[in-house]
Amino acid sequence: MKYIGAHVSAEGGVANTPRAAFEIGAKAFALFTKNQKRWVSKPLTQKECDLFKEELNKYGFSPDYILPHDSYLINLGSPKQEGLEKSRDAFIDELSRCHQLGLRMLNFHPGSHLKEVDETTCLNTIAESINISFEKVPDVMAIIENTAGQGTNLGYLFEHMAYIIDKIEDKSRVGICLDTCHTFTAGYDLASEDGYNKTFDEFDRIVGGEYLKAIHLNDSKKELSSRVDRHDSIGKGLIGDNFFNLFMNDIRFNDMPIILETPDETLWKEEISYLYSLIK
Ligand SMILES: [Zn+2]
Ligand SMILES: [Zn+2]
Repeated sequence: MKYIGAHVSAEGGVANTPRAAFEIGAKAFALFTKNQKRWVSKPLTQKECDLFKEELNKYGFSPDYILPHDSYLINLGSPKQEGLEKSRDAFIDELSRCHQLGLRMLNFHPGSHLKEVDETTCLNTIAESINISFEKVPDVMAIIENTAGQGTNLGYLFEHMAYIIDKIEDKSRVGICLDTCHTFTAGYDLASEDGYNKTFDEFDRIVGGEYLKAIHLNDSKKELSSRVDRHDSIGKGLIGDNFFNLFMNDIRFNDMPIILETPDETLWKEEISYLYSLIK
């Protein structure tokens, strides 16, 4: 079964997210558990956590299909000591917020070298950051999102993901989220059937299909290999309908959260029902 949803707003508190997701016909959702543009947020209270869990139950969501996204400020591969320490502390806080909320995964962008170190050094730092944070917070899985490779962001090649996973001590706690817009603009042609097959075969070969735990389902405003991250609404961008047809009928993407991060949230409900209508 496909579990499709969107990244819904946590305005007014995390406990508002299950209802927001339910209202658009979602079977999965993403959220920020704190303000994504700030380093520090108030700790979650027991009351907020209890209410969140009650609302999940009420609207029929399982934590298996909820994919929190961490703050955009965090750079687990930062070459600057101060930035790295701040990032690690913030990441540990994000993991523990997920743990408090009874959630099982945290989605994050691997990190950026900022032109100060080479890619390998940065990937080593990222892996070390993940290993350190696993010692501080139990259970929650670290889900690495692939990037478009904009600026100095790493994680745009499947080889980057494989390299990081190889360095993680507890591999049962690491997984991958493929963002379809990022995948396409990073240079993997999802728009043609041939490209689609090649891309996922390559993922299986280089990373391993068993590590794929989630999808960010987005179309792209920018062309293949542009290395630019601009999401578009489903079927309206350069990836196009052919891809979404193949994707919805591909059982490799069953039973994992599939999250829309498309730009027009007024279309989410329509996009979700359109996607389900593609299943043959
Ligand atoms: Zn992301
Ligand atoms: Zn994404």
